Amino acid sequence: MAEVRIRDLRKNYGSLEVIHGVEFDISDGEFVVLVGPSGCGKSTLLRMIAGLEGITSGSISIGDRVVNNLPPSKRDIAMVFQNYALYPHKTVGANMAFSLKMAGMPKDEIQDRVRRAAEILGLTEYLNRYPRALSGGQRQRVAMGRAIVRDPQVFLFDEPLSNLDAKLRVQMRTEIRELHQRLQTTTVYVTHDQIEAMTMADRIVVMQGGHIEQIGTPLELYDTPANTFVASFIGSPS
Ligand code: ADP
Ligand code: MG
Repeated sequence: MAEVRIRDLRKNYGSLEVIHGVEFDISDGEFVVLVGPSGCGKSTLLRMIAGLEGITSGSISIGDRVVNNLPPSKRDIAMVFQNYALYPHKTVGANMAFSLKMAGMPKDEIQDRVRRAAEILGLTEYLNRYPRALSGGQRQRVAMGRAIVRDPQVFLFDEPLSNLDAKLRVQMRTEIRELHQRLQTTTVYVTHDQIEAMTMADRIVVMQGGHIEQIGTPLELYDTPANTFVASFIGSPS
């Protein structure tokens, strides 16, 4: 079970509240996209799920555990960021192995996991290369490989494709969905791009100004937007 439950979640920076009592559930294996304009609180919310940002009040559970007070390493999540800096002096394989090595996993198991992730991502030929010798798409795949090897209960993505050119971005959307099809890992994916949200999500959470405007499938949002904000946001050109 790796459902995620978020209850009356709030975040203050100083006296300013930026997340105002957000609530939603993510089912086991679901691909949920958080979408909304820049500054609406997507990254803050995702970072609270990851444990990278403390919560001011409310609760987050992953599977059957309330994780409010657990550090990121104990939450069984793996995160892929927009600026997924790879270690330039480590090979692709060593980049993928690094967090497992730090966690003290036996060498054999690390090798198995890296091999399997590389196979899934089409990186088998590249394991001994260095990041500088890779294309943008390949580097993005290595960043995903570092998440996959950890075999987490939940994947968290924060605008992972923003730095890629338009064509590659479209290709990687498909690849990430295919990956999800294969692994069925519960996923929370953040983007400000409504087309990306509409093409990738099982369900979309539309945010504005630190609260949720609507939650629904792409078709539900398209057919019955809850208000003019959702209608104009979903309907606007990318
Ligand atoms: P998004 O990812 O949707 O662009 P963020 O979650 O980054 O939005 O930011 C939400 C709000 O919180 C913004 O108003 C932002 O300025 C504010 N914010 C984010 N991080 C901090 C911080 N470390 N200190 C103060 N305010 C912050
Ligand atoms: Mg952000």
